[in-house]
Amino acid sequence: MVHTCKRVVMFDNNDWCYRSFPERSWRCRACSRDIVKEYVRRFEEIDFQFMVTFMTQVPYAPPFFHLRNLKSGPWKLMLQALRYKHDCIQYFWAMGATTKENVHFHLLIRFARPELGWIKRRWKKLTGSHIVHISPARRTSVGYVANNAARLPVIPRARLSPMDLQDLRYTHRVGMSRNVVPPRAPSGRYRYEATEKRWDKSLVGTIPPRPSTGSIQP
Ligand SMILES: [Zn+2]
Repeated sequence: MVHTCKRVVMFDNNDWCYRSFPERSWRCRACSRDIVKEYVRRFEEIDFQFMVTFMTQVPYAPPFFHLRNLKSGPWKLMLQALRYKHDCIQYFWAMGATTKENVHFHLLIRFARPELGWIKRRWKKLTGSHIVHISPARRTSVGYVANNAARLPVIPRARLSPMDLQDLRYTHRVGMSRNVVPPRAPSGRYRYEATEKRWDKSLVGTIPPRPSTGSIQP
């Protein structure tokens, strides 16, 4: 498959030369296929128990501030409510839509038994839509859910205003709870450093606090 995205040029410290990488954009079919494969590999060991589908009344079409508001408002609050209700819940979600149907969210859940009535009431209060389905998750669910994000319609740039581009940029198509994250496989210098930084961040808590300067040692 041919990449239609831009290529990013970076300096490789190991080989002392410049290398170019695909941009890794959801808008490029080849890149999005790679991203889906990466998610499937990352969640290979994780057995999600349920898949919950949330329907909305927002179409995937410009102006995109509706979509941005949906993602940063009702969807964020729904996930927050689920986290409050189920302490150790782990999840992975993706947004999906076709040109004919409205945006929907697929949510894969682990370590929690969702109550359909409660979720429906909450979702109706947040978005006005009460259509929520629950089904048991299968081994292929991660691929299915991530593919939904990859198959969102690609709208030509000519039809998008600068504000739309910005809204799309800040609206993530997939997400996961922090406690479910398995480390990403390093590929390429840039991402390897990114994972190193994440590991460094996780070690910050283990550094003992400095002795206070006020105490006088004999
Ligand atoms: Zn690409």
